[in-house]
Amino acid sequence: MMNSVSENLKKILETIPSNVKLVAVSKTKPNEAITEAYNLGQRVFGENKALELLAKYETLPKDIEWHFIGHLQTNKVKYIAPFVHMIHAVDSLKLLKEIDKAAAASNRIINCLLQFHIASEETKFGLDIDEATLLLTSAEFASFANIHICGIMGMATNTDNKEQVRKEFLNLKDIFETLKTRYFLNDKNFKEISMGMSGDYLIAIECGSTMVRVGSSIFGERIYL
Ligand SMILES: *Cc1c(COP(=O)(O)O)cnc(C)c1O
Repeated sequence: MMNSVSENLKKILETIPSNVKLVAVSKTKPNEAITEAYNLGQRVFGENKALELLAKYETLPKDIEWHFIGHLQTNKVKYIAPFVHMIHAVDSLKLLKEIDKAAAASNRIINCLLQFHIASEETKFGLDIDEATLLLTSAEFASFANIHICGIMGMATNTDNKEQVRKEFLNLKDIFETLKTRYFLNDKNFKEISMGMSGDYLIAIECGSTMVRVGSSIFGERIYL
């Protein structure tokens, strides 16, 4: 027998300290599953497809805080800019520019995290520290008025090797401290480290995560048709 969403969510919440935010990753899951978590008090949800997120935003309660957690194409920014609370995986100046423009058009400030590549896998998106330095010191970046850079995000290698995962998360924590010191010392918005998923969020919290993105442990395995 599979556990219910609310049973799963209760168990997960017991393991997360109050200073760490749980982003319940509801991608591919129906509104009924989200509503079950909502009725237990969960208000923060994560999605990784712009149009799926838009459809859920339009049909679910308006006090949900929606996080976009996946790779975002520039031509999809406009669909989510009017309401999205935070975009987790920004990894280019081009995307940031599009977010700034769409945020201005909606008269909003959009919270963004810079995604870093910390895993050993080749295919994952994300910046390294040199690319981030170029981005953060560019004149164009300085001109953006409708974004807040709130911190950084990363995904560890998908492996059972806990020590490797720990090293990768500690690397992300180091990157955060370096950027904070160099570019954000007086910026109180820059405070988030989004790391940790169903398989590794407890390690991520030990390594300094402030936001965990947990999907399948709450909603069950995803079925992609
Ligand atoms: C799907 C996804 C998650 C959640 O993964 P689970 O293993 O189901 O917890 C977290 N972060 C990102 C970026 C994702 O795409």
